Amino acid sequence: MSQSMPRFTVRTFQCPCGESFDTTIYSTVNVTMEPELLYRLLAGTLNVATCANCGRKVASAQPFIYHDMARGLFAYVHPDADLPDDERDELLEHLRTVYDQAVAESERLTQPSTGGKRGIVEPRIRRSTPHDDALKRIYPDAPPMQVIFGIEDLTALVESLLEPEEKLGRVVLSTRASGQQERHRLLSVATRLAEQAHCLVEVEDLPDEYTVVIYGPRARVRQINAALKLLNPR
Ligand SMILES: [Zn+2]
Repeated sequence: MSQSMPRFTVRTFQCPCGESFDTTIYSTVNVTMEPELLYRLLAGTLNVATCANCGRKVASAQPFIYHDMARGLFAYVHPDADLPDDERDELLEHLRTVYDQAVAESERLTQPSTGGKRGIVEPRIRRSTPHDDALKRIYPDAPPMQVIFGIEDLTALVESLLEPEEKLGRVVLSTRASGQQERHRLLSVATRLAEQAHCLVEVEDLPDEYTVVIYGPRARVRQINAALKLLNPR
């Protein structure tokens, strides 16, 4: 949670098919700053590496911070829903320690220095501070931090906070053409439409079928559908 912690790292995955590829793994997911990450979570592509050669998907086991400032959700997410109880307890204990240290550090830094005024010791006001109050002082806009185990639980919680028009929508475009030219044309049309509407694109490249999925908020996906009807009037 400190300022110096990188938001993401680029990891190299070695696929059983022999291919190795790089994927961005986020350690801090702030969907207020990067709204597309919300839709990557809903579409199941957040912190998931997909092999460009065989399509195999590998989900990262790395915990991350999920922050939605507008909807008041601030969570530490451990992707493993089946984490054994003892490991859960250990993790919660560790989080409490890190948290208490961060609070103590922050209080030390924000307290006025008494150096140079020897002999005058400011009376220390000892407050029995609940964590939530301390957190509010450090991050005035942040709600209390939740701990969530499992991407499914996070996804369900996030979905419950969305308006109907904000929920995940998809357009699936596919071709059975095996020629690279035809496939590239489909991808470039889909990518252009997605970019214009601030949506995302996922490709499934199989020998007998090439599929491009455009996804994002329903309201924007509807605009893409309308544009596609203009391109391909039936
Ligand atoms: Zn592979």
